[in-house]
Amino acid sequence: MQAHIAALSPLEVVGLGVAWFGALYAVAGVGTWVLVEHALPALGWGRRIDPRPPAPGQLRREIAASAGSVLVFGVGLLLPWWLLAQGWARLAPQAPAWRVAAEIAVLFVWNELHFYACHRLLHTRPLRRFHAHHHRSHVPTPFSTYAFHPLEAALLGSVPLLPMLLHDFSPVALLALPVMSIALNAFGHSNYDFGRRAPATGWRAASRRHHLHHARYHGNYGFLLAAPDRWFGTALPDDAPPSR
Ligand SMILES: [Zn+2]
Ligand SMILES: [Zn+2]
Repeated sequence: MQAHIAALSPLEVVGLGVAWFGALYAVAGVGTWVLVEHALPALGWGRRIDPRPPAPGQLRREIAASAGSVLVFGVGLLLPWWLLAQGWARLAPQAPAWRVAAEIAVLFVWNELHFYACHRLLHTRPLRRFHAHHHRSHVPTPFSTYAFHPLEAALLGSVPLLPMLLHDFSPVALLALPVMSIALNAFGHSNYDFGRRAPATGWRAASRRHHLHHARYHGNYGFLLAAPDRWFGTALPDDAPPSR
């Protein structure tokens, strides 16, 4: 399998990457939109968090910026491809199911920590202006997920590199990483509280925490797991009022 991947041309790698990330964005965006705008309200399950509609032109801007990020992710795939082609990283296509499951769990935790670290970095003075693109969405939507400046897309897209250098992952686990990431991302930007009757708590409150991050700008830098914000003292109280 590694030989087949190494035999691809750079243009084929970028083309496959753009198709893959584009499909993930479209399915996660449209799927979450249908879920939180139609299906769940019809079932009386959960509630919208911020009643304000998206700003005029917001969806168009988010989709255009996300198309740019899809291109960056596609081009960025040249790095893991190059690591595989050079033999610096290796795949384990015959890994048993228990090992694939363990790898997915490790990549999930790594994705959360990598996102927290990158996000804190993006809120520092030198990088803040690049991250401002994402924060133009004061009320997030399922289409905000990839709405980044290209530099932010490149930074977040670097998530598989270090793990791949340290361990021979199964292809299934590596493919599961962006699937997990976009699913969590769409959930976090859904502007919807998924608690059936009462407000959600714990990891299920991730959409409320990330909505508050967009509304307040400072604090709640993590994603699904609330722990990193607790460890580093950046968690916002649940009832903090929006400041912008
Ligand atoms: Zn931010
Ligand atoms: Zn966001």
